[in-house]
This record gives sequence, C-alpha cells and structure tokens, in this order.
Amino acid sequence: MAKDVKKDPQDLSVEEKLKALYQLQTMLSEIDKIKTLRGELPLEVQDLEDEVTGLTTRIEKINKEIAELKENVTTKKNEISEAQASVDKYKTQLDNVRNNREYDVLSKEIEFQTLEIELCEKRIREYNASATAKAEELKKNTELLEERKQDLEVKKTELDEIVSETKQEEEKLREKAKALETTIEPRLLQAFKRIRKNSRNGLGIVYVQRDACGGCFNKIPPQRQLDIRMRKKIIVCEYCGRIMIDPELAGVE
Ligand SMILES: [Zn+2]
Repeated sequence: MAKDVKKDPQDLSVEEKLKALYQLQTMLSEIDKIKTLRGELPLEVQDLEDEVTGLTTRIEKINKEIAELKENVTTKKNEISEAQASVDKYKTQLDNVRNNREYDVLSKEIEFQTLEIELCEKRIREYNASATAKAEELKKNTELLEERKQDLEVKKTELDEIVSETKQEEEKLREKAKALETTIEPRLLQAFKRIRKNSRNGLGIVYVQRDACGGCFNKIPPQRQLDIRMRKKIIVCEYCGRIMIDPELAGVE
C-alpha cells in the first residue's frame, strides 16, 4: 500500500501538503459521520421503549375497563334477582287481595318491576357487547406489544454491536488521522482546523466546482483558478476562507 516515507513537514511540496490535508479531512469527516450514525441509533431504541411503555399503559387501562364492565353486569344481575323476588312476592300477594284497589296497586308494582328487569337485561347486553369489543382491542394491543418488545430486543442488541464496532472503527481512523497530522506542518494544520471548525459543513479544504469555491460557491477569478491548478501556492477562498484545490488533486473526475 502507501509507502511511509518520513519527511520533515517543511520539506513537503505544496501539492503534497494539500493532498495530506484533503486526506486528513476525509478521515475527519468519516469520524463525524460515524458519530452521527451512532447518535441516531439510541433514538430509535428510545422510540421503541416509549411505544412499549405506551402500549403497556393502554393494556392496563383496557383490563380495568373490562373489569368494570363485568362488575356492572354483576350489579345488574343482583338487581334482576331483587326485582324478580319482588315480582314473586307480589304475585303471591295477588292471590290474597281483598279489593280492587289492592289488586291495582300490586299489578302496577309487578309491571314496574318487570320493566326494571327488562331494562337491566338490556344494560347487561350492552355491557357484554362492550366487554367483547374491549377484549378484541386487548388482544390486538397485546400482540402489538409482544412484537414491539421483540423489535426492541433486536434493536438493543444491534445498537450494542454497532456502538462497539463503530468505536473500534473510529479509534482506527483517529490513529490514522493522528499519524497523518504529524506530516503536516503545525501552522498549516492549525489554520486548517480553525477553518474547519468555523464552517458549517465541517469542510476546511474544498475542490473547485464549476469555476466556483466548493464551500461557498462564489466564482473564482481565472487567474486564481490557474494558481490553484499549478499547486505551487496555498490558495484560500476570499469569501469563506476555505483552502481550495483542483478536483484532480481531490481525486474527483
Ligand atoms: Zn469559498
């Protein structure tokens, strides 16, 4: 692979310096990308954890609602028993009435209690229908919860793997970048790092694109473009301050 010829940074030609800087930037950008990737994964896990919590809460709520409906059914059944007992009692009394008025009163009571029973039965049917619908909802949510729990396990494992893998990759890149940095003269390296830090896209050195600076896209005068192609001087963009090189030196086109 690359021959490691140890040269004093001062002895490097401008072209070599620019090449080294561009290589360094590629490594640093790669490190940034790895860090961003690693940063997004915990968010995915967090989203799944939130969903699992949400589903668990919903399931608890549905279970409570079903229990309430069952309680309501029991209450109504008790009311029916009481009303039925009253009806039975009045019917016995009806056999022993002494006058029409007593007969009318008892008949009215029986009619009223019978209506009560019918109303209770109607309510019970409604509660049961509601409970059936809730049970279906419960089943769906429970299935979904199981799925999400499995997804979460997979994502967590994936995250652990990726974190350790990317950490290793990042470490390797950092070592390479460090080695490369020693070949670049400190003053130039410092200037490059400062430009990089101040630029929003993290680029301190850019190549010319369509006669313009590849960082801020301002047009470059022909003479400066020529200077860039000559690779004899370090040329900086007069608008954004980024170091400019020709595409070929960046390995483009
Ligand atoms: Zn520029």
